[in-house]
Amino acid sequence: MNRCHNFNAGPAVLPVPVLERIRDEMLSLPGVGMSVLEISHRSTTFETILAAAEDRLRRLLNVPDTHHILFLQGGASLQFSMVPLNFLPRDGSADYLVTGSWSEKAVEEARKVGRVNLAGTTKAENYARIPKPAELRLDPTAAYVHFTSNNTIFGTQWHTEPEVGDVPLVCDASSDFLSRPLDIRKYALIYAGAQKNAGPAGVTIVIVRDDWLRRIPDGLPTMLDYRTHVKHRSLYNTPPVFAVYVVGLVLEYLEAQGGLAVVSAANAEKAARLYAVIDAGGFYRGTAERDSRSLMNVCFRLPTPELEQMFLQESSANGFAGLAGHRSVGGIRASLYNALPMDSVMALIDFMRDFARCHG
Ligand SMILES: *Cc1c(COP(=O)(O)O)cnc(C)c1O
Repeated sequence: MNRCHNFNAGPAVLPVPVLERIRDEMLSLPGVGMSVLEISHRSTTFETILAAAEDRLRRLLNVPDTHHILFLQGGASLQFSMVPLNFLPRDGSADYLVTGSWSEKAVEEARKVGRVNLAGTTKAENYARIPKPAELRLDPTAAYVHFTSNNTIFGTQWHTEPEVGDVPLVCDASSDFLSRPLDIRKYALIYAGAQKNAGPAGVTIVIVRDDWLRRIPDGLPTMLDYRTHVKHRSLYNTPPVFAVYVVGLVLEYLEAQGGLAVVSAANAEKAARLYAVIDAGGFYRGTAERDSRSLMNVCFRLPTPELEQMFLQESSANGFAGLAGHRSVGGIRASLYNALPMDSVMALIDFMRDFARCHG
């Protein structure tokens, strides 16, 4: 077996023990005689898989009983629409903190539903940092505040939640969900497409506070109304059975690692080592300001675009995948999700030192 060092931004690397388990159970789930791809979503087998995934997530993130856990489809992108459709009244206004391309897309969808107040943005600085608390212009009467906890494309991250008082807090946590412990009580709603850090593409995890559901207007399309999925426990229609199964295995793996505090310390160590190489020597240049740096997506430049092309070609020839920056910004991006082994980070660091020595 020859696996490459997978720095993809999403879909992304999964833990090898999870992939082995999928392989081992592919022809027949233990005691079932069918693969998970062939079972009914109404079977007790799947109900057990779904319930176990929910239980594990509840334990890992300490999700209180006040919050529901949903497994939906449509990606984080559908949440950009569902959040305002459910929670932005036509005559109301919502605060959006805009820290990158994904926040911009969330705003675009919210504007189709109601008024949006841009309560903080660093667009003028090409999203190189997270706004400071004093820069936020929050509206105390806003229906909610929406923010993007980790900016996958620009490589910045909120290291603590914005302070929003009593206004409901909504978060797109797609690219750092399960990378660190969170206090779920702070959130009215938090969502994440699984394919960055929690599993494969095809399922979106939503955690929503029960009492907030009372604000939802009647008359929404059934599938777009959070209450449908709460009432039917994510089984209103056929859920993405395979994706939920894999998320369950990833959660089991995270628990076996010792939980999110352990995982978060490993993530911090991986990122610290990589940023140290970027900061040493002057050949590489990090694009995010230091106190806003993401521990998940490390973005950097080389002295010239030609050197960046060469870096990408040579790294690819040496067994590294996924290091090109997002097509909208260029440069280099190394995504260091939970499942990326420290060995891959160390191999990249060696490669970067060699490359700088040859071309610096
Ligand atoms: C990838 C990503 C999205 C888009 O996710 P889809 O599941 O493709 O809709 C949204 N927000 C963030 C922060 C992301 O990283």
